Amino acid sequence: MNLKPIANESIVTALVRQLKEGGEARNKLISDLEALAWIGMVETPHPNKPRKVMEDQYTYLMAILHGVARALDKDWMSGPVFDRLAGIFTDGVFLRKTQQKKMPELGFHPPHFVVVSPSAQCNLKCKGCYAESDAKKGPGLDYSLVQRIVDDKLNLWGGHFTVLSGGEPLLWKSQGKGVLDLAEENPEHIFLMYTNGLLIDEKTAIRMKKAGNMTPCLSLEGWEERTDARRGAGVYKKVLAAMDILRAHGVPFGISVTGDRHNWQEVLADDFVDYFFLENGAVYGFLFQYLPIGRDPDPDRMIHPADRAFMFERTREILREKKVFYVDFWNSSPGCNGCIGAGRAGGYFYIDYNGNLCPCVFMPFSAGKVQDLYTAGGDLNQALETPLFKKLRAWQKDYGFLSTGHNQGNWICPCPIRDHWDILEPMLRETAAEPTGPDGLALLEDPFFSQKMAEYGRACRELTNPIWKRDYLNQGKKGQCGK
Ligand code: SF4
Ligand code: SF4
Repeated sequence: MNLKPIANESIVTALVRQLKEGGEARNKLISDLEALAWIGMVETPHPNKPRKVMEDQYTYLMAILHGVARALDKDWMSGPVFDRLAGIFTDGVFLRKTQQKKMPELGFHPPHFVVVSPSAQCNLKCKGCYAESDAKKGPGLDYSLVQRIVDDKLNLWGGHFTVLSGGEPLLWKSQGKGVLDLAEENPEHIFLMYTNGLLIDEKTAIRMKKAGNMTPCLSLEGWEERTDARRGAGVYKKVLAAMDILRAHGVPFGISVTGDRHNWQEVLADDFVDYFFLENGAVYGFLFQYLPIGRDPDPDRMIHPADRAFMFERTREILREKKVFYVDFWNSSPGCNGCIGAGRAGGYFYIDYNGNLCPCVFMPFSAGKVQDLYTAGGDLNQALETPLFKKLRAWQKDYGFLSTGHNQGNWICPCPIRDHWDILEPMLRETAAEPTGPDGLALLEDPFFSQKMAEYGRACRELTNPIWKRDYLNQGKKGQCGK
């Protein structure tokens, strides 16, 4: 291995940087990195996690590595963009060097990132939109407020990663600036931006390429027919055109898919995965299982619990065999040690377009407003101290986060809102959490929604508890005393 770290660079960063070398050198480097990571992550016993969880985390990391190598091989990612992203990601996000320096002063392990929706305005009006977005929504947050959030995250916690959602983030304008200005003015951050892709043109892609620290994640619902049925006629072709532009400029992008009872097979089929990840340039992807929140919530669109259990196996197969980082946001929870919401150590929380501090994008309940927190002279640390966030983190701990041995709760079903509504509902009432819109209100006040959520969680737990015990806790295998 011809390793030449440059000033202040860690060995891991130097290794990652050498991915650019290409050809046989790259293949050799990848196999060395795989071997090193296997020993460091899987073969080294971890005090707080079952070995199988570490195997999952290893698989995710390797899928990212192969995705990046593929993008470099095929010129889907420009060299300077790779340098910028690799530097921030490796040191700031993966090794958390800035955060390590802050830890003694902080005294606690902070979240890694925040998701911010600067505005709910959108140039589409998709069926079932989680944010009920459309063209008539208000202007959203001030640019200076979003900048303050980004500053706080870095200065308080050493966090270099921010997720932008919406509405359509590229539509947001405030104080004469938008999301591209945010990326340009914060070169030490990586911004992952969920976008419908319609506003990505040559000019936008060139600015993203120059900034080198923004990766758009484009929404799809499946092939053309399904995407257009939910998003509007002609949208699929426009998303593909945006991908062409991004690829041509070497801006790495991902795809974001909402899976529901009707499309989950399509979006996990070989042809779909191969087309978008192996041929069309997506470097990563997220599959969000439909939740009945947002516009016209419909519990019957949720993926059937038995299908969810099947998807659990299928997404692992894709990661392992295709080496494609296409992660099912719920079913991949063992890979991030359960629920990451409520500002958990290494996790995140959500700030919506009204400034509501929500434990998670998919939990339409507010613990307060970020504007009030700042007006009172506070900072983002006070968000972590709100009763709702604290109670949720206590529950996460009780459910096995950072616990030892075999007492972990089932991390295949770790979600307070989807899998444990019967626990979350009283918690929301006790902490006087405010619904952020009619969807949250319906969940709390309409017994139809409440019952559906509780039933769904119970069914998912019953189906996946045996998988968790067998595969992760090693119970019930031959020669052991599991039931
Ligand atoms: S789903 Fe996304 S693109 Fe569609 S209306 Fe909502 S925010 Fe806009
Ligand atoms: S609340 Fe649910 S969706 Fe949100 S981070 Fe936790 S597990 Fe994931």
